[in-house]
Amino acid sequence: MIKCLNCGELSFKVVFYIYEAPLVGEVLIEHGYCTLCDFRRSDVSVINSGKPKIIKIKVKSVDDLKIIVIKSSSSSIEIPELGIEINPGIAAPGYITTVEGILERVLDIIPSDCELRKECLDEVNLIKNAMNGLIEFTLVIKDPLGRSAVIYEEGKNNVIIEEYRESL
Ligand SMILES: [Zn+2]
Repeated sequence: MIKCLNCGELSFKVVFYIYEAPLVGEVLIEHGYCTLCDFRRSDVSVINSGKPKIIKIKVKSVDDLKIIVIKSSSSSIEIPELGIEINPGIAAPGYITTVEGILERVLDIIPSDCELRKECLDEVNLIKNAMNGLIEFTLVIKDPLGRSAVIYEEGKNNVIIEEYRESL
């Protein structure tokens, strides 16, 4: 048992799974839960993670929306064309999803009073258009620990992987 991020007691249990993913190798899946407060947290990370990196996925078609992303808890997400920037909090989860799934998660965290505000509604429409392949955009995943990855075919998908540098 380790310390729970929510209640602070030594009551947090983690179960590990290893999954062999095509093109990226072994992926560690962690699923944790607190036996006292029911707090849950999942994470994923590529085992042969290598260096800190920035993954840029240029999404130009509906096919690109289906690219599978292994987004570790240590990474942040930016989509400049859609004005999206999500930084990882201390209890941020990691997950395996698609590019479209990341947009779905963004929609999930839109505040409930959004429909009362025009700029928020415009933002939602922009994201929905992106999910329908009507807008080209770049998904940027910055991972200072290098635990994230993307499953893509070189030459077919527009994916760029750069070295991560702490911005000054
Ligand atoms: Zn707890």
